[in-house]
Amino acid sequence: MITELISVGTEILLGNIVNTNSAYLSEKCAQLGLSVYYQTVVGDNEERMKETIRTALGRSDIVILTGGLGPTEDDLTKEVTAQVMGMPLVEDPHSKELLEAYMQQYKDNHSQRRITANNYKQALVPQGALVLDNHNGTAPGLIMEKNGKIAILLPGPPIEMKPMFEEEVFPYLRKKQPEIIYSQMVKICGIGESQVAEEIQDLIEKQENPTIAPYAKTGEVHLRITAKGENEKECRKMIKPVVRELKERFGKNIFATDEKKTLEEAVVDMLKDQGLTLSLAESCTGGAIASRIVSVPGASEVFTHGFVTYSNRAKRKCLGVKKSTLKVFGAVSEKCAKEMAKGGCFAAKTDICLSVTGLAGPDGGTEETPVGTVFMGCCYNDKVITHEFHFTGNRAKIREQAAAHALAMLRECMMEGIVKKS
Ligand code: ATP
Repeated sequence: MITELISVGTEILLGNIVNTNSAYLSEKCAQLGLSVYYQTVVGDNEERMKETIRTALGRSDIVILTGGLGPTEDDLTKEVTAQVMGMPLVEDPHSKELLEAYMQQYKDNHSQRRITANNYKQALVPQGALVLDNHNGTAPGLIMEKNGKIAILLPGPPIEMKPMFEEEVFPYLRKKQPEIIYSQMVKICGIGESQVAEEIQDLIEKQENPTIAPYAKTGEVHLRITAKGENEKECRKMIKPVVRELKERFGKNIFATDEKKTLEEAVVDMLKDQGLTLSLAESCTGGAIASRIVSVPGASEVFTHGFVTYSNRAKRKCLGVKKSTLKVFGAVSEKCAKEMAKGGCFAAKTDICLSVTGLAGPDGGTEETPVGTVFMGCCYNDKVITHEFHFTGNRAKIREQAAAHALAMLRECMMEGIVKKS
């Protein structure tokens, strides 16, 4: 069923509050198998609200609105929706009773407050609407059905909206849409997005249910496999052969099939599994790789040293890079990366040291060594392998890509069994 979300509130348009309600509701709708095709934000303006709701009801089966249900003059969502749907407002005795009880309780705690006439407008509901009690505020939610269209009105504050959605709206929509959506992520590193897309072109062309959607992240490609089915078990069964196929195609480049697992977690896990210790010798990334590694709880079991050797002097003093190497080949060179990795292993006495040296720009590029050139070295038991990369983008982007590719390279070294504890 086509679903549309409308967030009501001028403060959202002005950027005073972040529209978290839409993010939350989109995710819930996806779980329910509802197709959210549109999200709109409209201010507290009667005419524009009317137009927005009319358009939404014209193109969608279900319209979920949040905000503007309160007692003040500019809270118009219910009035305008009722008008557009042609459902007159009538007093709902149950809502009135709850409102009075809530206000009485409020008055007991705030003696100077009184119930204003405005508050009673919250006890008016569109005739024939299903009223959803608000256990965390005064404005009730509403479900309005007419001519095959559904409008669901929820209060704006997330603390009121979320429990109401979970307790009342979710089960209601589940009945309307018996299928659920379930998805699984396959995370890939070490191959670019276009190569991944090319290798799954045939799967994407013939996909129906489940579907595969690629997302590019710096240094990673994520494939979301989504199935529609009666329940989670059925969806998992549908997804399983697709994941198997992807594993066959991408093999060791897949670092996770768990949505939450990060590349640095995969690297730390692998170091732990293989009983290896790690040090890092970073120049242009300035500690960014170390920062990602230590973001993983328990990284201290495997990670011992992070050298940020930004100057030539530091490269020489901390890592023993030869003066002649820096003079003849320069700091951004394969030879320097090699010596940094080897020197890091020696100084830190770790099983592995990964080094990174490059030119993040914006200045300093030459024809021979343009901005974006990055050399990495991985040393293990006295052997060093190196890779040369050419990244594009601004300084921040180049450093970010270098850190991501360094993690992928570390993983690749361990995967290929190059690194073995002696
Ligand atoms: P109330 O009865 O509290 O007035 P309401 O249904 O009228 O509720 P609004 O007045 O539109 O809701 O919004 C009240 C508050 O709820 C906002 O100030 C904001 O903090 C929060 N809110 C509203 N809409 C959103 C949204 N889309 N995302 C996140 N928070 C929101």
